[in-house]
Amino acid sequence: MPSSRRTFLAGTAALVAGTALARDYGPGAQPTRYPDPDIVSLDPRFKKYALGNTPIHRLYHNPQMLWAEGPAWNGVGRYLLWSDIPNNIQRRWLEEDGHVSVFRNPANNSNGNTFDNQGRQIACEHGTRSVVRFEHDGSTTVLADRFDAKRFNSPNDVVVASDDSVWFTDPTYGIDSFDEGYPSESEIGGCHVYRIDASSGDAANGSVTAEITDMVRPNGLAFSIDERSLYVADTGASHVVDGPRHIRRYDVDLAAGAVTGGGELFATCPVGAFDGFRIDVDGRLWASGHLGVHCYHPDGTLLGTIRLGETCANVEFGGVDRRTLFMTATTSLYAVEVAVAGFR
Ligand code: MG
Repeated sequence: MPSSRRTFLAGTAALVAGTALARDYGPGAQPTRYPDPDIVSLDPRFKKYALGNTPIHRLYHNPQMLWAEGPAWNGVGRYLLWSDIPNNIQRRWLEEDGHVSVFRNPANNSNGNTFDNQGRQIACEHGTRSVVRFEHDGSTTVLADRFDAKRFNSPNDVVVASDDSVWFTDPTYGIDSFDEGYPSESEIGGCHVYRIDASSGDAANGSVTAEITDMVRPNGLAFSIDERSLYVADTGASHVVDGPRHIRRYDVDLAAGAVTGGGELFATCPVGAFDGFRIDVDGRLWASGHLGVHCYHPDGTLLGTIRLGETCANVEFGGVDRRTLFMTATTSLYAVEVAVAGFR
């Protein structure tokens, strides 16, 4: 019987009781002792990425925020926006003064966000079951809302390649219940990774192809730096007993506009399941999970963990030098400075 993602994640809580963070970030909290005890190095190679004199900050906390996901950094506006899926809004944190406000309301139960190569926001919307683009003139363009004349399930996360093609995942979390969208049957009958072609000069006119069709619930995704690999998380354990909770690596030929092979296991989440992740300029993966964030070497070795007291749904590099790692985690937005920049 399918269970909700939340139920699945809660089921793992007992496993982490010994390591879960009993940390007070609120007013009057005690100063942190350096190095931050919740930045855990598991491999000597992680040391160069963890700064000594920096704590994990909780930039924003709101008990009414139900599921924070889809962070995207805007380098021009110097803000981080993210989705609060069940509350059907997007929020924004301004670097200038730390101010947080509602950015879009309603937001069609948006999930993953990114900015394309022209600086336009792209969002995955559970509510409309589509991938949309917000134009510089304020209008909204639907990039894709169906495949083979069938509506998508609920696009979850999205990345834009250097050739402007748009790649996104389409699990069922937005049609499973009222939790994150509107209950409905899947029209497609599967959960795939899709590509929107942009060779015409605009992805809005591009054809949609299903590039990865052997996953249970594809979720977060990111290209390697050379764009010859596409990493995709599978959170299928939310629906299948002992199902996938890992990241796989696929071979990509961007010039051909296609996934050409691969699909080997890259890493399995230590506790719970990976959701979203990002790549740094050294090719490391920083992946969200139940414990917080896990950093992986491209060879699949777990280098270190940033422990949070809440389940982390996604991460994003930002700040003027892209060395701030933002973490959207249930009711909070966290950030920590690291010694490596995110890859754009
Ligand atoms: Mg996701």
